[in-house]
Amino acid sequence: MNTEEKRPIMRLPGDESLRILVVVAHPHDVCHMGGTCAHHVERGDSVSVVAITGGQRTHNEKLADELRKPSDRQDTKVVHGSQDDYAKRKKEEFARACAVFGVTDVTVLPFSDHPLEATEDVVSALAEILYAVRPQLILTHAPYTLPDRRFHYAWVNDHTAAGIAVQKALNHVSIPDTSMGRSPHRVAAIYYTGIDYGFHEVDVCIDISDQVENRIKAEEIFESQGHTAEFAIKRIESSAGFQGWKAGTGYAETFIRGYREISRCLSVTKENLQLAGSSHEERLRWITGENPHDDEQDVSRQRRE
Ligand SMILES: [Zn+2]
Repeated sequence: MNTEEKRPIMRLPGDESLRILVVVAHPHDVCHMGGTCAHHVERGDSVSVVAITGGQRTHNEKLADELRKPSDRQDTKVVHGSQDDYAKRKKEEFARACAVFGVTDVTVLPFSDHPLEATEDVVSALAEILYAVRPQLILTHAPYTLPDRRFHYAWVNDHTAAGIAVQKALNHVSIPDTSMGRSPHRVAAIYYTGIDYGFHEVDVCIDISDQVENRIKAEEIFESQGHTAEFAIKRIESSAGFQGWKAGTGYAETFIRGYREISRCLSVTKENLQLAGSSHEERLRWITGENPHDDEQDVSRQRRE
């Protein structure tokens, strides 16, 4: 990532492109928002992705499997393999997975996971990135956990800590930096991934039916976590597929709004209008991942051209 400080964005009329920053705890977490990122890249927005940790201690399944064996049957290469080698492999997988969604600005910060804590070092590293990118939109983890049978403290994990670190960094850069003479920065919107939340707890569903192949591909890339082609299909069908099903579409990535949306009027999306006006047969087509209105859009686009 180019850390040279960017000037605050002066939006010109008609300039709709956005600067988007995605901050995740571990490299694999970007997959949960990959389809959304691809849509933004497609519409000309700039998307930068940062993993706070290399995921060195996350899902090292090969090591876990070796340590389950009696010590005389363990593969010493795996047992004594360095955490750095595992992290390096994961970093490569991270870059490849991001590339599947058209994202090339990819950074892994040098912090360790399990536990990840929102320390001063983590917060100031994120603040530097915020100054450099000056995003209008942030996608990250929620800085809170929902009570789960009243044991919510048990669920404060790396993802929650990442969300807290992002919020602290946002607070930091919103204050004028007199020592460096930097202008303050505020983001316009923040969205928390809904991956760990129930379908009734999320605010926004992004229809990623056109990105299913890419989501499966990205999932499969994380071989270091033991992912296989079969696992990748199952995971996407049961997560993005389930969220899509609940939203009345094929596949969806879900988000929770971190900031309240301000508008002069209430809004309704084109997709909600289309769904409301769809016949039963069209709704079924939509749920199977095929937007029946795509044909109409193609026709009207051709008419305009
Ligand atoms: Zn994670």
